[in-house]
Amino acid sequence: MTAPPLAADPVLAAFAEEVGATDAVAVEGARTRWAVGGAVADGTRLVKAPTGIVRHEAEEMIVCVRAGTPVAELAATLAQRGQRCALPDHGGTVGGAIAAGENDLLVLGCGTLRASVLEVRYVSAEGRLIRGGGPTVKNVTGFDLPRIMVGALGTLGLIAEVILRTNPLPATSLWAMATDADPFAARDALLRPAAVLWDGTHTWVNLEGHAPDVTAQLALLGTVGRFAEVQGPPPLPACRWSLAPGELRHLHAQQLGGFVASVGVGLVHAERPQPSRALPPTVAALSARVKSNFDPTGRLNPGRNPGAR
Ligand SMILES: Cc1cc2nc3c(=O)[nH]c(=O)nc-3n(C[C@H](O)[C@H](O)[C@H](O)COP(=O)(O)OP(=O)(O)OC[C@H]3O[C@@H](n4cnc5c(N)ncnc54)[C@H](O)[C@@H]3O)c2cc1C
Repeated sequence: MTAPPLAADPVLAAFAEEVGATDAVAVEGARTRWAVGGAVADGTRLVKAPTGIVRHEAEEMIVCVRAGTPVAELAATLAQRGQRCALPDHGGTVGGAIAAGENDLLVLGCGTLRASVLEVRYVSAEGRLIRGGGPTVKNVTGFDLPRIMVGALGTLGLIAEVILRTNPLPATSLWAMATDADPFAARDALLRPAAVLWDGTHTWVNLEGHAPDVTAQLALLGTVGRFAEVQGPPPLPACRWSLAPGELRHLHAQQLGGFVASVGVGLVHAERPQPSRALPPTVAALSARVKSNFDPTGRLNPGRNPGAR
């Protein structure tokens, strides 16, 4: 069955009309990551993405949601049917979380943000409503637009609505911490931890699932160190370093200040900002080509650089 044209939805059509096709424009979410990628150029017109949950098909494990919806509202709606999604709730909007492209702390358990965006509906630089991806794998042809929009900071298109994969809320979720454990051994010992964090001394592990499985995993952790249950993860320093997961073994506080590393992920929360690393020339050239194809006049979120964070 052919999907109806997006412009038949009056909410999406009104958003596309507001975005228009000529001047510099950016979406303003809740501004929780407003400074990421640099300041938006002076004179850029700010618009708000539409809000509301269009439909939650719990049995299909998908939700269709307007991009301006607060992540907290989406999480509360999904929880009513025992589900969650990969979007972290830190006061932002669905579109902002996707545009910022940061994974949840429990990414090993709830999956990556990029993999959870099944379909994206956005307004292009020409002011057209475009659909990319699809809720079932069979429907997907052409470019993988949902993935390219994740982390693009709204420089390739203004996200109006998305279809996200959901997953079950775990029956049990607990944090355990040890001061004598090798975090890499802990990660290897466990079947599927939702998070393994390490600050150079302490190791925190989040276990989730059915209670007997969590108990069994906790017992396994006992072979790695003296773990005790704690309330939650440690406070996370503000800067984010993106490293290859293998590099985490060689971290030292001199470089990062205090840090909390996500073992198995490659993300490090650190006190000091990550020194900027130039993109390899081939990647830089590819990025520039993608940007000029999607936004030839540079009108979408001018000033922002998704590569500079
Ligand atoms: C204290 C704190 C802790 C956090 N911790 C984590 C964490 O542990 N894990 C994690 O994954 N994330 C974390 N986040 C990030 C969080 O996911 C984002 O801050 C948030 O969801 C961004 O949403 P926003 O509506 O505030 O976006 P804004 O700050 O308003 O916008 C961010 C950028 O996205 C663009 N944008 C916004 N909406 C759209 C749209 N519809 N279409 C196109 N572009 C758009 C904006 O133009 C801007 O460039 C944390 C944030 C904070 C403040």
